[in-house]
Amino acid sequence: MRLLVVEDEMQLADALTEILKRNKYAVDTAYNGNDGLDCALSGVYDCIILDIMLPGMNGIEILRNIRNEKLSTPVLLLTARSEVEDKINGLDCGADDYLTKPFVTGELLARVRALTRRKGDIFDENKMSFNSLELNKSSCSMSFSGNDVKLSLKEYQIMELLIANPHQILPKERIIEKIWGYESDVEYNNIEVYISFLRKKLNAIGADTQIKTARGIGYSLE
Ligand code: CA
Repeated sequence: MRLLVVEDEMQLADALTEILKRNKYAVDTAYNGNDGLDCALSGVYDCIILDIMLPGMNGIEILRNIRNEKLSTPVLLLTARSEVEDKINGLDCGADDYLTKPFVTGELLARVRALTRRKGDIFDENKMSFNSLELNKSSCSMSFSGNDVKLSLKEYQIMELLIANPHQILPKERIIEKIWGYESDVEYNNIEVYISFLRKKLNAIGADTQIKTARGIGYSLE
């Protein structure tokens, strides 16, 4: 999953980014309002963590712009204790939740998990599954009928994206945007390499799940 952090206090922004990355999210960071809006409008994020007081465009204006563009990306506002009006305003403008600074990281992670949870998911933060194939976040592995295999972080992130969109063709372009970021210079053959690793690993654990190639477009989980 890909997250955007928009926060001008550089130390806080970098600390948040680091913590989120350690929790296996792909993260982009913007340190001012204008960069934040540019990133947000790309539409590739699963959640945006948005500070209100920002140089350039403030968080509320960014939020308004995002919603005007009909983007429904979940937004978690970061507010100072004194910004009560902004909190109300933010929720009225389409924020999904807010967190008052200072906060403990456990709470931030829980809120991000809640905002990115798929509707109808069975509640287990650590596991995703597709038929009998299980993807395990804390051990960064996947398993099938008692067989386990470790995944690299990128393999995990690709598998997570495929399982979140089963039976749908995911264009390579979209995989790059989600995993590496929309400004990355990763090429299609990098993805092909990761997909071939994943196929070997699926084979190794005897999984009946296949990553199918849609020629010239991308991949789907079947
Ligand atoms: Ca700020």
